Amino acid sequence: MNDFDSVQLLYLLATTLFILGIKRLSKVKTARSGNTLAALGMLVAIVVTLASPGFGIQLSWESIGMGVGIGGLLGLVMARKVEMTGMPELVALFNGVGGAASSLVALSEFWGRGFGVAVGDDLLLGRGVWAVAIILSVFIGTITFTGSLMAMGKLSGKISGNPVVLPGRHLIVGLLVITALAMGVEAGFDLGLPLIGDLSPQNLILGLVTCAGLFGIISVLPIGGADMPVVVSLLNSYSGIAASMAGFVIGNSLLIVAGALVGASGMILSIIMCKAMNRSLGNVLIGGFGGDTQTSGGGADEYTTVKQASPEEAAMILETAESVVVIPGYGMAVAQAQHVVKELGEELESRGAEVRYAIHPVAGRMPGHMNVLLAEADVPYEQLLELERINNDFKTTDVTIVVGANDVVNPSAIEDPASPIAGMPILNAHESGAVLMIKRSLSAGYAGIKNPLFERENNYMCFGDGKAFLQSILDELRDS
Ligand code: NDP
Repeated sequence: MNDFDSVQLLYLLATTLFILGIKRLSKVKTARSGNTLAALGMLVAIVVTLASPGFGIQLSWESIGMGVGIGGLLGLVMARKVEMTGMPELVALFNGVGGAASSLVALSEFWGRGFGVAVGDDLLLGRGVWAVAIILSVFIGTITFTGSLMAMGKLSGKISGNPVVLPGRHLIVGLLVITALAMGVEAGFDLGLPLIGDLSPQNLILGLVTCAGLFGIISVLPIGGADMPVVVSLLNSYSGIAASMAGFVIGNSLLIVAGALVGASGMILSIIMCKAMNRSLGNVLIGGFGGDTQTSGGGADEYTTVKQASPEEAAMILETAESVVVIPGYGMAVAQAQHVVKELGEELESRGAEVRYAIHPVAGRMPGHMNVLLAEADVPYEQLLELERINNDFKTTDVTIVVGANDVVNPSAIEDPASPIAGMPILNAHESGAVLMIKRSLSAGYAGIKNPLFERENNYMCFGDGKAFLQSILDELRDS
């Protein structure tokens, strides 16, 4: 077996590890080992690439070492420091730098090897494919970079989460795409296109980068904060496609496959999230839905008859409950209440109650947000039930404890066809005997709308920080 065959074989091993890793990520129980397998695959990929024949000819080992060292250190520090609530921003940033890396790889190949393949050239097929891969890698990679930075800004609140709709934006976006692709094609195939045919290939490719960058910004601007996680997942898919294209550019089969895996899984995830919100991907991308919660509707003044319960009263309601369902939401992540949620669950179980956790697919700010937090607190996987599996059981549930969730239990989604979230599947908490709604105020959730559950006869508002309120209930129960 020659060196080339050994490299391809080890690439196949890395690809297999990626695929097994992704497969295991689909279940909470196996997700941790899936992550380890995929990381191992990446280690194999890096080591094999660094050790492959010919590597290190163009770059000094010092500069490669510096790149690996600085990148690795930054990744380690960021992963260690990030709060669970800041995870979506971090993912957005990672997607963005992934897209930028693919774009830079393609640009460096362009600058290094030269460009401009005339139609009719003997090498048209080989170089033609190569040129198309460069154009797409630069185009999609740059869109991913600027779009992800916008998404990160909106998620972190540094840029307003409100949809910003520019007049004539569809026309602007259309023109940017046409200009970007025309410049890329002219740079690659030297067709002598009108208006741009006289520009040098270098200027054309810089024009492509500029138009793609603007396209990324302008297409994310009109999308509201509530839809940002879908956008992040879509940009994740784009970063995979850009990486796959970069794989074609440098002739690396592993990068082609790994990029395609990311591209496909990101797209599937985006579609799943849209389904869970009863929206189409097109509707999300057209934008205009979901802004800053602070500036939208659903304020305290919209409620007239809300019942309130103190921790002592909440404990009394729970004391006699035989079946309890806990619905966690974004507020549980903010309050970091997952550990006390688990302790309360154990206390109720020790009193003979059946305790289960209902997980809505878009609870929190990213898919799997609640599963990750509850797994961190060692809540048994068997007690975590998805919407379809638990929704029929609320009618026979004595008490539902809603911890920092709002939109995912909003009955207007199924009762009011005019509601902005109409059609979104919700957890039917309102059907249970009593609902303890733990949150700090009457303010709205991410969709920024009123929640009629607050005024229902069986609902008790438990005002306070999620962790502190649950701890007080737990103390009351233990003292009783
Ligand atoms: P929501 O955003 O609807 O509500 C969260 C609630 O938590 C708020 O109303 C807030 O009320 C409360 N809260 C905040 N901090 C605390 C705290 N320290 N203690 C107690 N409560 C707190 O969250 P949900 O999880 O119900 O819904 C998720 C939303 O995100 C949906 O609109 C969904 O469509 C959207 N989304 C989620 C995605 C995902 O992948 N998970 C993807 C796309 C969108 P108060 O300020 O009064 O405390």
